[in-house]
Amino acid sequence: MREDSSAKRVVPVMVPMPADRPYSYAVPEGARVVPGSIVRVPLGPREVAGIVWDGPGGEVSAKKLRPISEVFDCPPVGEEVRRFVDWVAAYTLSPPGMVARMLLRAPAAFDPEPPIEGMRFVDGAGPDRMTAARARVLEMARDGQAWTRAGLAHAAGVSASVIEGLREQGVFETVAIPPQPVVAPPDPSYAGAELTADQERAAERLREKAGANAFTVTLLDGVTGSGKTEVYFEAVAAALERGKQVLILIPEIALTQAFLERFQDRFGAKPGEWHSDLAPRKRERVWRQVAEGQVRVVAGARSALFLPFRELGLIVVDEEHDPAYKQEDRVFYNARDMAVVRGHIGNFPVVLASATPSLESRVNANQGRYERIVLSARFADAALPDLATIDMRKAPPERGGFLSPVLIDQMKKTLARKEQSLLFLNRRGYAPLTLCRVCGHRFQCPDCSSWLVEHRFRGQLVCHHCGHNEPRPEACPECGALDHLVACGPGVERIAEEVDRHFPDARTIVLSSDMLGGVKRLRLELDAIAKGEADIIVGTQLVAKGHNFPAMTLVGVIDADLGLANGDPRAAERTFQLLAQVTGRAGRSGRKSLGLLQTYQPDHPVMRAIVTGDAEAFYEREIGERERAGLPPFGRLAGIIVSAATRQEAEGHARALRRAAPRSDTIDVLGPAEAPLALVAGRHRFRLLVQGTRRCDLQGYLRALLTAGPRPRGSIRVQVDIDPQSF
Ligand code: ADP
Ligand code: ZN
Repeated sequence: MREDSSAKRVVPVMVPMPADRPYSYAVPEGARVVPGSIVRVPLGPREVAGIVWDGPGGEVSAKKLRPISEVFDCPPVGEEVRRFVDWVAAYTLSPPGMVARMLLRAPAAFDPEPPIEGMRFVDGAGPDRMTAARARVLEMARDGQAWTRAGLAHAAGVSASVIEGLREQGVFETVAIPPQPVVAPPDPSYAGAELTADQERAAERLREKAGANAFTVTLLDGVTGSGKTEVYFEAVAAALERGKQVLILIPEIALTQAFLERFQDRFGAKPGEWHSDLAPRKRERVWRQVAEGQVRVVAGARSALFLPFRELGLIVVDEEHDPAYKQEDRVFYNARDMAVVRGHIGNFPVVLASATPSLESRVNANQGRYERIVLSARFADAALPDLATIDMRKAPPERGGFLSPVLIDQMKKTLARKEQSLLFLNRRGYAPLTLCRVCGHRFQCPDCSSWLVEHRFRGQLVCHHCGHNEPRPEACPECGALDHLVACGPGVERIAEEVDRHFPDARTIVLSSDMLGGVKRLRLELDAIAKGEADIIVGTQLVAKGHNFPAMTLVGVIDADLGLANGDPRAAERTFQLLAQVTGRAGRSGRKSLGLLQTYQPDHPVMRAIVTGDAEAFYEREIGERERAGLPPFGRLAGIIVSAATRQEAEGHARALRRAAPRSDTIDVLGPAEAPLALVAGRHRFRLLVQGTRRCDLQGYLRALLTAGPRPRGSIRVQVDIDPQSF
C-alpha cells in the first residue's frame, strides 16, 4: 500500500534488455503517458528508450523508484503490436525485453524529424538590380512555393550565392518545410494488370479475403513464373482500399530491387523499404512514417514484422518456404509463422506465396486451416524448363574438373544462341577444404569445428562460421613442405575458373554473398544479368531467389546432392525447394529452356520429383514420413543449445539439464549431443532436443525444465530454439 497521498503514478516500461518483465517508473508531473508511449528512462548508470507497457506498474520501494526522463513526441506503439511482442516472447521463450528491442531499432526516429529551412518569394518584392541569373531564380520562385536553397539553386541553374544575395535583399522570407514522405501513397487502381483466367480466379479469391476484416491464411501455390506477384498485388490493392497498411515480406529484399519497380508499375509509387542494408537515415524515416501511418505499404525483410504499424491489415509472405525467414540470433523466430500470429492478433488476412511451399504450410492446407490456391501454368504460355539429371557416374568430368561434358556441350549451344547459362553451386569461395599432399594436414578454423574455405581472389583461407581468416600459405604449417597444398572440392570461384578454361571469350560473372563491394555491387551485377550483359553466371543460392532473367535458358546444378548429405530430416524438402527454385530461373521469357542436375543419385526421390515435375507425389511421400516419425508439423520440436568456453562446461550443463527434465507422457528429451556445429567462434555447443506431440504444452514444459535445472554460470549460455531448422 502506498500511503503517501502525493503518490506518483507508476507505469511499467519495457526496456530493450534481457528482462523478463517491464520495470516500474514514475510518471513526472504533467507528462502525458499512455500504454505504448515511447519514453527515455534511467537504467543503472545509463538511459535507454523503452515502451510503456500495460497494466499497473509493479511495486517498487519509493527509494528505488525513478522517474521517466522524457516522453518522446512519437505515436504510441499500438495495442496489437504490444500483444504481438508478448506473444512472440512467450512462444520463443525469450525475455519480452529482447523482443521489444527489435521494435526499438531506429532510435533517432522517436523524435519528430525537424522541418527543413526553406524560403518563399515575398509577394511584390524585387531585387535592386536584375541580372539574368536573378531573373531565372524569380521565374522559378514566383509561384510562391517553398524551396530549399539548394533545390532552388539547382532548378534555376545558379549558384547558391545568387539566392543568398536575393534573400539578403528581402526577396525571400524563411519558412519551415515539413518533412517529406519517404514514399508517395500507393494508388490501388493505378494500373491493374490484365490477368489470365487462372490468375483472375485466384485474384478474386484473394481480393475477397483481403477486403474483409477477418483472420484467414491463404497459401498461394503457383509454379515459378505463374504470376503470383501480380495476383497477390490484387490482395494488396483490396487491403489499401479498406484503408489498411500492408506488409510484404521478401527474403533478400536488398537484392530484389526489381520488385520495387514492379510495385511502382502497379501502384504508381514505391513501397517503403526495410532491411539491414538501408541507410540509417532512410531507416529512421521509414520507421517513423510507418508509425505515423504515412507509409502504407512496406516491402521488407523478416525484421519488418516488428515495425510499429498503426493499422496493419494484410501481410504477404513471399517465398514463404525460404530458410532466411528464420532468425537464429538472440530471439529465435520464424517470420513466416510469426506473420500468421500477427494476422491472428490483428484479425486480418495473411497470404503465403511460394512455388515450393514448406511442408508445414502444405499440411496446414491439407487439414483445412489454410486455403490453398493453385496456379499450375506459367504466364503467357512460357513453358517450364525441360529438366534432366546428368548421372555423374556415367558422364564424369575430365580430370580436375567438375563440369560434365554433357553440361559443357549444352553451355556451348546456349552461348551460340546468345542466351544465358547459370551454373549453380551453393558454396562460396574456391575450395571447401585445403590439405597438404605430403603429411595430410587439413586447414581448420582455430575457433570452430569447420574447415577453412579457400578464397583465391582474396588469397585467403576463411571460416564461414566466425569469419576467421588467414593468408593462404605456400608451405604446410605442419611439415613445412613447399607447394604441396591442394584444394579439395569446388566452390563457385573454382567453377568460374573451369568455365574460363572452356569459354575464354564468354562474359562470365561470379555471384556470391561475400563478393567485394557488398550489396551495391551485387545489385549492379544482378542488373547486368537481367539486361543480358553476361553470358555465363556462376552463383550461390543468391541467384536462385525471385529474379527474372529474361535471357536465361540453361541452368546447370553442379552438385545437386550437396544438401542431401547432412542427414537432417528436412534435407530432402530443402533440396527439392532449392533445386525447383534455381531451375525455375530458366525460360521465364518464353524461350525453350533446360535445367540439368549433376548428381550421383539420379534415382533419389528429390531428383525424380524435379525431373518428372511431380511435386505432388514428393510432398505426399515426405508428409507421410514426417507423420510416421512424429516430426513437425505432426509433432513439436525445440532445441536447447548450451554453449560455453570449454567442452566440459557445455556438456556438463547440458547433462545436468537433461537430468532435471521432468517426466511427461507427451514429451521426450533427447541428448545431449554435440550441436550440428560443435564449436563456433570458440564456444563449444551441445544440444538437447525436446520432442512432443502436436498438442503438447511445449513452452510450459521447457519453462519447467529450465527452472528445474541449474542456473547457467560463468561462460555458460542456454538458448532455446523453438521449431529448429534442422533436427
Ligand atoms: P511468380 O511470382 O509466380 O514467379 P511473377 O509474378 O514474377 O511470377 O510473373 C512472372 C513474369 O510474368 C513477370 O515478368 C510478370 O511481370 C509476368 N506476368 C505474370 N502475369 C502477368 C499478367 N497477367 N500480365 C502481364 N505480365 C504478367
Ligand atoms: Zn571459425
